[in-house]
Formats: sequence, structure tokens, C-alpha cells
Amino acid sequence: MKTKLGLLYGGKSAEHKVSLQTALAVINALDHEKFEIHPIFIMETGEWIKGPLLDGPVETVAALQFSRGEALPPTALAPTLFQAENKNESFDIIFPLLHGPNGEDGTVQGLLELLNLPYVGNGVLASSAGMDKVIMKNIFAQAGLPQVNYVWFIRSEWEQDNNSAYEKVEAEIGYPCFVKPANLGSSVGISKCSNREELVEAFKEAFQFDRKIIIEEGVIAREVELGVLGNDNPECSVTGEIIPKVEFYDYKAKYEDGDTALVIPAEITKDEYELLYGLAIKAFKSLDCSGLVRADFFLTKDGKAYINEVNTMPGFTPFSMFPLLWKHTGVEYPQLIERLVKLGMERYEEKQ
Ligand code: ADP
Ligand code: MG
Ligand code: MG
Repeated sequence: MKTKLGLLYGGKSAEHKVSLQTALAVINALDHEKFEIHPIFIMETGEWIKGPLLDGPVETVAALQFSRGEALPPTALAPTLFQAENKNESFDIIFPLLHGPNGEDGTVQGLLELLNLPYVGNGVLASSAGMDKVIMKNIFAQAGLPQVNYVWFIRSEWEQDNNSAYEKVEAEIGYPCFVKPANLGSSVGISKCSNREELVEAFKEAFQFDRKIIIEEGVIAREVELGVLGNDNPECSVTGEIIPKVEFYDYKAKYEDGDTALVIPAEITKDEYELLYGLAIKAFKSLDCSGLVRADFFLTKDGKAYINEVNTMPGFTPFSMFPLLWKHTGVEYPQLIERLVKLGMERYEEKQ
């Protein structure tokens, strides 16, 4: 019997387009003898459309357009690819291929819990804690994970007295610092600041995306990442290093330029690998993760590691860091997907 897999993608977030690319890649990679795939598309407006599998020429057209970096507008996708089906269907498992708010943040996971459906990846708690950089860092601090200093503000605090906010940053963090919306990903709304003027602009920018922001000490370090896979006994992949050609790994560098170098495995010492491995597992467990995360670190010249973040639904195209890390560890993309499906099933069964 084929596994009925509901592939949930798109989503109402800044990472909508990335999710479309990923869904297409997953559909192409899955063994259609083993899986019966049911795409469920969430439009940028938040509407959901269920329909038949992307097929034949349409898929090719879509694939070509994606590879050129143009996303198809959902309005164009919907009528051709997702004509509503009338019959009621239940799924063996759902794969939420969604990034950012309303997808990676526990909301969709909560819905699936209520529907009593197994799903791939992190549960409600890990997803929501991992989405909020402040909550995540507070948990990491409690777990004793090394990280850079940080402060945070909510918008109303800043509106009441913005000068005090800037003074607090200068006193406790200093320059350079990074200002980030608390609840986003893909570097959206993030700025690096070297003086008060830039700080003021960065606050304004970040508060456009969230009512809460975080400000962190800027470090000069390599960016090294590990994939973590598993439930109660997670394992790590080899490491990968991101070498951005711009000042930091911003949205454009991530998704548009495509000339950011990924070095896998990263050139690090055995001791450094062991250090990162241990920290990645600790981070995974501290948030009570399941399935997968990508754990991102800053590694300084003198071998100090700071955890930057975990991503509970990391970029998942075949050319994204997480799948590439596992490929270099010996797990090919289709096997990786199958393993995640299995882990999702196991977690569901454990809860019953
Ligand atoms: P996102 O969740 O959007 O990926 P990150 O916190 O990872 O946000 O920040 C995006 C990028 O900004 C990082 O990959 C890194 O290049 C840079 N960056 C973020 N925080 C710092 C920091 N404290 N010091 C140095 N660089 C940073
Ligand atoms: Mg992130
Ligand atoms: Mg990041």
C-alpha cells in the first residue's frame, strides 16, 4: 500500500516562494511507487487549495520557471494545478514544507495535532519556540549553550521611549550589532549597525515585520551549520560553512544571487566538530525538537563556538544546506525525505 502523503506548501509568509521551490523538488524526488502525493497549496493570501499532483508538461514549465528564479503567481498555479477534488480524503502523514510564520512556527503543527494527523518534523512547542529568536535564546541560555549577548524590545516599549532603547543597546551590546525581527527567517528585516544612526533605521525596519525585535552583539566568525536528524536519539550530519560574498548572509544572498559558497564539509578540526556536534544535540534537546533541525553556529578563529539559531524547517530544496549536509553524510535526498516521514510516524505512534 502506498503512503498517502499530504504535501503542504506555499504559505502566508515571506518564505512563500522558497516553499514552492521545495515542494516541486520533493514531488520530483519521492518514489511515486511508494507514495501517493497530495499537494495542498496555501496561497499568500492564506487560502488553501487542494488538488491533483503537479504533472507532465505543467510541472516542467513550473520547474523551468522556478529554476530561473521566477515564482509562479499562486493565482496562476491554482486553476491549472489544484482543481478542487470533491472526495473526502484522509492522509497517512502530512509534510508541512512551510517556512517562517504560519508554517514553521507551530500554528500548522497545532492544526495537525487537532486533526490527529501524523506529520513530518517538529511539534508545536519546538516549532514555536524555535521561531521566536528571543524565546529560543532564553531557552538556550538556560541550557548553558554559548551565545552572543542580546537584548530585546517590544514595539510599544520603543515607541514610548526610543532613546532609552538605543541607550540600552549601546550600554549592553555596543557596535557592531545585529537588529532582527524576533519571528522571521531568511534574513528578512535584519540589519547590521555600526552607529546610532544605523541603529535607529534598523529598529524602524525590524519593527515593520514584528512587534518584537532582538539586538545581538555582532561577531566576526565563520558560519558553520549542522543538520540534526532523529527523535529521541538524534544524530548530526557533517558540517557545512556558508561563505557569503556580501557583508552578511542576507535574503538576497540566500535566495537570489546564488553565488554564496557552501563548503561541505567545513574545514574545521576534529575537536571543533566534536564541540559543534555536542552543542547541536544539546540545542535540539533543549527545545524538545523532533525530526529535524539545522543548527547554525558562529565559530571564531580561536575555536569558540556560539549558537546562532536552530531552524525547525530549514531550507529543503536539493541544493539547500540541510539536504546537502545529509548527502555528504551518506543520505541522499529521497532517502532523507523517507527517513523524515518515518520519524514523523514514529513520533505519532509514541504519543498514542
Ligand atoms: P535568519 O533566521 O533570518 O536566518 P539569522 O539570525 O541567522 O537570521 O541572521 C542572518 C545572518 O546575519 C546570519 O547568517 C549571519 O550572516 C548574520 N548575523 C546574524 N547575527 C549575527 C551576529 N550576532 N554576528 C554576526 N553575524 C550575524
Ligand atoms: Mg532562521
Ligand atoms: Mg539564519
